[in-house]
Amino acid sequence: MALKNEYLQKVYEQVEKRNPGEKEFLQAVYEVLESLVPVVEKRPDIVEAGIIDRIVEPERQIIFRVPWVDDNGKVQVNRGFRVQFNSAIGPYKGGLRLHPSVCASVIKFLGFEQIFKNSLTGLPIGGGKGGSDFDPKGKSDAEVMRFCQSFMTELCKHIGADTDVPAGDIGTGAREIGYMFGQYKRLRNEFTGVLTGKGLSYGGSLARTEATGYGLCYYTAEMIKCMKNESFEGKTVVISGSGNVAIYATQKATELGGKVVALSDSNGYIYDPKGVDLDVVKQIKEVERGRIKEYVNRVEGAEYHEGCSGIWTIKCDIALPCATQNEINEESAKALVANGVFAVAEGANMPSTPEAIAVFQNAGVLFGPAKAANAGGVATSALEMSQNSERLSWTFEEVDAKLKGIMTNIFHNSYNAAKEYGMEGNLVAGANIAGFMKVADAMKWQGVAY
Ligand code: NDP
Repeated sequence: MALKNEYLQKVYEQVEKRNPGEKEFLQAVYEVLESLVPVVEKRPDIVEAGIIDRIVEPERQIIFRVPWVDDNGKVQVNRGFRVQFNSAIGPYKGGLRLHPSVCASVIKFLGFEQIFKNSLTGLPIGGGKGGSDFDPKGKSDAEVMRFCQSFMTELCKHIGADTDVPAGDIGTGAREIGYMFGQYKRLRNEFTGVLTGKGLSYGGSLARTEATGYGLCYYTAEMIKCMKNESFEGKTVVISGSGNVAIYATQKATELGGKVVALSDSNGYIYDPKGVDLDVVKQIKEVERGRIKEYVNRVEGAEYHEGCSGIWTIKCDIALPCATQNEINEESAKALVANGVFAVAEGANMPSTPEAIAVFQNAGVLFGPAKAANAGGVATSALEMSQNSERLSWTFEEVDAKLKGIMTNIFHNSYNAAKEYGMEGNLVAGANIAGFMKVADAMKWQGVAY
């Protein structure tokens, strides 16, 4: 399918040529370029400055070997990545993903999305992303520590509190951030806010753990209030995943009056018609690092089903995908619509395929895209950077209030941008345009430096 603008189509063809076979990256670029059609028509100066030709090419990509020794004394080798995509509005910022599916395409798609997401937060942070194909699942703490130390031994040459500040993502939680921070400090002999998502005892921010899930619900609440005069109160909610984002989205959705009836992991999903007991989930996932199917052994009346896509056949009013990319395809989207879903907001990055998004939009389902809806995590990471810079810690309530304000603004800025460019109600286009404009402006003012 060709883009409805000759210049943008040429840019896309060049991206395809330079990045053959990188399907996730190409998917993310296509979606943004599609939204920019009315922008290039209205703003020839952006085309003249070559902003879009430049923005699709990372400023810098680092790929490195990560050797480590397992508990049996055997040498293991993983591949590490850091993609520093865009620093026009601030130091590179974006998480580190540890998952066997990590490859250049996945990290580039995430880094590209991060540019616009970070811009949408209104905070001074550029876009980057990194990670490794290392799988922390089933590894001992000592193995995870040796991997993290080896990973940071190379990564530390490329990051810094004013240069590039990584954070957590899939597979990278408080444990991994702690090991990486310790190694950075040891190698550089400096105690700086070089990573976010740190533990509270050494520079972490209150509410960072909760931020992405809470932020997702704040955004969703604003979207359904402003566009449908609705709230979470009394609504049935389905949330995929059972990691950091899913757990705290469940907590906030429940606090706001919703009933979360399902959660999942990459093996299957649980259905609890009474509403999930989050204490049980936290014990299994956060304390025991176990599998979600364990839930049915502890809660009466709950069911477990193998396979993760079945979760989208459960009847619900609001769906919040919080696991991974492309987890909702066209068929799953149709099942959700047939069962009466009225709002979908993305906690994970790019969890809906383009076909699925089209199904939601054509059916009039409110759809909040990831780069807007899940920006609460990175926004709070930026607040952690501010606290580190001033060597102070803010209260939970202070950070949470700022987060809520940021998510509400993101909704309104996206909504207004879509309206201004003739696509009222299209929050995908609105988020892409609002995120893009600030970065484009900064790039233009800074000349052809990058
Ligand atoms: P976690 O590692 O804490 O949890 C990930 C969850 O998703 C787990 O339940 C995992 O199950 C499941 N999952 C992972 N891969 C798959 C798969 N291929 N199929 C089905 N389920 C899968 O990660 P987070 O909660 O931090 O991240 C979830 C999503 O949110 C990601 O897309 C991430 O990029 C995004 N995000 C996270 C932010 C954060 O602050 N943490 C910020 C913004 C976005 P299993 O245990 O079986 O792997």
